[in-house]
Amino acid sequence: MYGLGIIRGLGVTLKHFLATYVDDLRWFFQRIAGGGGRYYNPEALKARQGAKARGIFTVQYPEEKLPVPEEFRFIPFLIYDTDAAGVQHDRCTSCGICAKVCPPQCIWIVRSNDPATGRPIPEPTEFFIDIDICMNCGLCAEYCPFDAIKMDHNYELASFERMSHHIFNKERLSQPASYYASIRPRNNAAEEAARAAKEAAKEAAKEARAESA
Ligand code: SF4
Ligand code: SF4
Repeated sequence: MYGLGIIRGLGVTLKHFLATYVDDLRWFFQRIAGGGGRYYNPEALKARQGAKARGIFTVQYPEEKLPVPEEFRFIPFLIYDTDAAGVQHDRCTSCGICAKVCPPQCIWIVRSNDPATGRPIPEPTEFFIDIDICMNCGLCAEYCPFDAIKMDHNYELASFERMSHHIFNKERLSQPASYYASIRPRNNAAEEAARAAKEAAKEAAKEARAESA
């Protein structure tokens, strides 16, 4: 019969439309208990994004934000470690590899020199990234031999001031190692394990040399 397909299609739309309200009612008691209904808490968000989600809904950004996967990447940041005395140490050695591999060439590094000898020292005096030019490819993080630059999850960086707000300097880019561990726990654990294995191999080689001497 002509038009049956259209009626069936409208039926599907109507089913989703009604399911939206049914699902809202299912979360109603959580909402009045202060749980934020099906919109604003991690449990509800997970259910809404899962295979059992029903109805039609819109992400109510910025009140509601979808969690990003660990591998999500936006703008790079620099990692520093803090020693037992509370002194911060940049992991970056200003080797310049990231700046060289960056496809749109938006990284600019100023290397440091020892004021006494004039010789280069392995840390940057300045480190800039033009975040409007960065294409979020992650190549800088992939190629850094010191795990010093990683991709951030923070995507809320819009502003009207390009020069003052969108050219990130070293201070703006730097984050503690604990921040990296918090946003990329799986990556961080793998890198820590690789570092520990490398150190153990180095120690074993040292001991073997000492024994043979
Ligand atoms: S972030 Fe890594 S690759 Fe870039 S200059 Fe520093 S150490 Fe080298
Ligand atoms: S993410 Fe890509 S474009 Fe952005 S700074 Fe790194 S290498 Fe350059």
